[in-house]
Amino acid sequence: MNLILFGPPAAGKGTQAKRLVEQRGFVQLSTGDMLRAARASGSELGQRVAKIMDEGGLVSDEIVIDLIAEQLTLQAGAPGFIFDGFPRTMGQAEALDALLESRGAEVDLVIRMIVDDTRLLERVTKRFEEQGRADDNPATFSRRLERYYEDTAPLVPLYAERGVLVEIDGMGTIDTVSGEIDAALKQSA
Ligand code: AMP
Repeated sequence: MNLILFGPPAAGKGTQAKRLVEQRGFVQLSTGDMLRAARASGSELGQRVAKIMDEGGLVSDEIVIDLIAEQLTLQAGAPGFIFDGFPRTMGQAEALDALLESRGAEVDLVIRMIVDDTRLLERVTKRFEEQGRADDNPATFSRRLERYYEDTAPLVPLYAERGVLVEIDGMGTIDTVSGEIDAALKQSA
């Protein structure tokens, strides 16, 4: 199962991905987590992406595609992959298709979590207070949201045309959203 959890920043993708990892043994591939780990390690890559991330911009396609390609190779044989925060551009979506195709696989399901902007802002403000992630501050967050609408939301029709897109209401409780995701997974199995 190659599942894309799709949606704006702070839609709850990470929370749901972690649950699926625990319950189904899927592997979560979060480019945001990988980039934060690179920064924490002080690597050259981490230093290169720091400013872009802090400004709420998008890291180059080349960098994130390489990160995903590396993990797909390292974790070959996993029962499923959850792509969380990737793809975010058309170039990334095309690269993901090619990477999966070369492994005899494809994007099986895209679950789009729909959350309105007001709710996203409420959530991210809370997350900022609790976790102190610099890019969750309101000014940076609105730039991340802008990037989402400009670069990432245009991928929706691509997956809709292929018949792999399921849209769910991401505004309910974690349990309600989990239920909708499980139903979508069952349907596509
Ligand atoms: P996230 O945790 O997914 O919200 O990602 C945090 C930040 O990492 C984003 O605001 C971007 O700067 C960067 N990032 C994460 N994933 C990607 C991606 N697929 N393409 C470009 N930049 C990314």
